[in-house]
Amino acid sequence: MLKLEEKTKQYEKKDLKYSLKSAYATAIKNEDFKKLINTLKVKDDIAIHYTSKLEETVAELKSCSKCKSIFECKNKVTGFVYYPTLKDEKLEFNYVACKYKKKEFKDREDIKTDFYEMPLEIRKAKMSDIDVNDAKRVKIIKWLKKFYDEYQKDRHLKGLYIHGSFGSGKTYLISALLNELSKEKNNVIIIYYPELLRSLKESFEDNNFGSRINEIKKADLLLLDDIGAETVTAWNRDEILGTILQYRMDNKLPTFFTSNLTIKELENHFIINKSSEEQIKARRIVERIKQLTDTEELISENRRK
Ligand code: ADP
Ligand code: MG
Repeated sequence: MLKLEEKTKQYEKKDLKYSLKSAYATAIKNEDFKKLINTLKVKDDIAIHYTSKLEETVAELKSCSKCKSIFECKNKVTGFVYYPTLKDEKLEFNYVACKYKKKEFKDREDIKTDFYEMPLEIRKAKMSDIDVNDAKRVKIIKWLKKFYDEYQKDRHLKGLYIHGSFGSGKTYLISALLNELSKEKNNVIIIYYPELLRSLKESFEDNNFGSRINEIKKADLLLLDDIGAETVTAWNRDEILGTILQYRMDNKLPTFFTSNLTIKELENHFIINKSSEEQIKARRIVERIKQLTDTEELISENRRK
């Protein structure tokens, strides 16, 4: 009985060896497969154990060779190739970034913007990734391109006030421009405005207040994101916002805003009570914003998932 079991195992082993060999023999007839084996400098008696995995690599490399951008990626893991390295007489397979993915990583590293409380997709926003298919954006995209070109010669340009519907891409579009400019050694700050006010309140207690306001005031390029979503107080309107805007106006520093409110609605938002003194203060803030910016509307589908 025992003998029979042993015999069966022997046959199984032989069978397996034979199957491995014949699968490998078939695979190696393929030119790309052969090329990969040569590149890896792996011996046949090792490679033979990995035929189907190696075939996967060959197929992925083949789809890469025709690929023009990461959006066409056909591989199992987008932007990566299932690729082996030889280690201690064994092949170890890993997902390795393709050339487009590597460039994406590098581009992200190049972005030097200071972000206050902004989500990841805004931190990596790039001009080249802007989806140009939405007709409603074309005018704004043209504006951004023009700004980018002119800023190389003139650093005292007007910024942009974009208002419109939730999720239409307001923050993304401006961040893409500013991230691009941050690569060129400009000091860029992008701030979620309601959160800035909250954090300034805290820094008031730890004495960082003055230096933080200064940093923001003096940035080469500034985006105050989602203005109008904050709770207005006389302090944050006149002392914080008023001071920042005044400085940026006096020094002609490009300043950008996004908001769900039109400029007119924003003016009403700044009126704390209906007294005429309040109306003047609200008007004064809005006049500064108007001086600092061109205005565009962006009402479009909500891209947030
Ligand atoms: P808004 O500020 O108008 O509320 P966002 O700018 O935050 O909208 O955009 C909403 C979502 O859509 C975000 O997740 C953003 O990353 C994405 N998004 C917006 N515009 C683009 C674009 N041109 N290309 C790729 N993703 C975009
Ligand atoms: Mg936004």
